[in-house]
Amino acid sequence: MESLIKRIIALEKISKGLEPSLEERNKYNEELQQFLNDFIDTTEEKKAYYIGEPDNEKLRVNPTKKSLKELLAIYTSEVIEKGINPASGGHIGYIPGGGIFTSALGDMIASVTNEYAGMYYGSPGAVTMESELLDWMMAIFSFPKESVGNLTSGGSIANLIALTAARDKHQIKSERITKSVIYLSPQIHHCIHKAIRIIGLEDVQVRLLELDEGSKIDAKKLKLAIAEDASKGLNPFMVVASAGTTDTGAIDPLKEIGEIAQANKMWYHVDAAYGGFFILSESVKRLFKGIVLADSLVIDPHKGLFLPYGLGAVLVKDKEAVFHSHHYTANYMQDAVTNSQINPADVSPELTKHFRGVRLWLPLNLHGLEPFIACLDEKLLLTTYFRNGLSEIGFKLGPEPDLTVSYFWYPSKGIDENKYNEKLMEIIHKDGSVFLSSTKIEGKFVIRMAILSFRTKKATIDKAIEMIKKCNVQTNKYFNISK
Ligand SMILES: *Cc1c(COP(=O)(O)O)cnc(C)c1O
Repeated sequence: MESLIKRIIALEKISKGLEPSLEERNKYNEELQQFLNDFIDTTEEKKAYYIGEPDNEKLRVNPTKKSLKELLAIYTSEVIEKGINPASGGHIGYIPGGGIFTSALGDMIASVTNEYAGMYYGSPGAVTMESELLDWMMAIFSFPKESVGNLTSGGSIANLIALTAARDKHQIKSERITKSVIYLSPQIHHCIHKAIRIIGLEDVQVRLLELDEGSKIDAKKLKLAIAEDASKGLNPFMVVASAGTTDTGAIDPLKEIGEIAQANKMWYHVDAAYGGFFILSESVKRLFKGIVLADSLVIDPHKGLFLPYGLGAVLVKDKEAVFHSHHYTANYMQDAVTNSQINPADVSPELTKHFRGVRLWLPLNLHGLEPFIACLDEKLLLTTYFRNGLSEIGFKLGPEPDLTVSYFWYPSKGIDENKYNEKLMEIIHKDGSVFLSSTKIEGKFVIRMAILSFRTKKATIDKAIEMIKKCNVQTNKYFNISK
């Protein structure tokens, strides 16, 4: 007995290393605070994009103890200074949010208190906080209160949950699979195609719809396609629309599509991961008319509410459809069964999860909603400002966007436009002060802007235009020399 106690006490001395003392915690906090303040205060002067790969050696796990300072230095050189800096306002290449600081405080609180947000029984407060956040989102989109929802890691998992509910509601299984039809825009986010495969619907028939000149689903053609498939004895069961496509930011005609889906008793899913929260902006609210007809809806607070990566949301009107695959009980969970409360674990493949609610609850309550809406309005105006500036320096623009994603290219006379703009893109990436991406629109290589970081300001756009101007001169030179 004595030796047992001795051994326990000896181990306790070592394992205590996992609970830093008050003094050590203060030291960590101070060092980290300084590091994060430096990061925030200098991030707009630094590059938004760094070409280069990390040194594996430096990131390799080796069990010797190091100081926080040393580790932060490695983090800076190997993580921050490699690839895109998504926290930078200069990141206008892929849809970013930026990552507001107070959301990180929420993560810190969630992690230190480590509340168990999977089941109501474990943490009624955590689960209630998350369900209140979901109710708030339901109210924004006029979804009925009986809807269910989940805070997910992002849009991909949120879409997966929604599509699973659609599959189960319409019982798309065994021999029905190959006869069932899903209607999609070719501009749909690829995570929808991924979800279709993951949930066992690889052999379903996917109709890629024809788009109108604004890259939106043509509702009339959708109606015809459904009628034609139905007349062939097929089973049209789901249509997916986008409220803000990734490539061009287009919002499909949500109301018309919703009415067609209802008339045909189909599941209507709307992927609004990028665009959804723009419904809060009076200037574009009208574009979301009809979103209320959706059976399921996906929105990403880590995009439209500028949170750090790691928060998507799904709302589904039919609770039973979601529960079919996700609700489960086991003997070892018998204490956790409550009837009135919906457990996050009943609506998601996850059981244990990060308590994500705090990262949204804290900033919303600290700042109020007003700066979020102002930020969305600001991004819409900055998109127009950027396009005007590009036009003034001779660039061609894609069509007027619904939201904040758009594209442009340089009309290089005498030189193949695709080759010219590819080179220009390369030079812009090398510069890196602002990060833009590229895409192909009907075979045409174009440069893409996606303005959604809360740190993107007028000064950022001015910097971007100066940089593009400079890079365009270099591209011009490159082609003249090689000719
Ligand atoms: C970003 C995005 C997704 C995927 O969401 P993640 O949060 O990256 O998983 C899905 N659909 C649309 C329209 C998006 O913009």
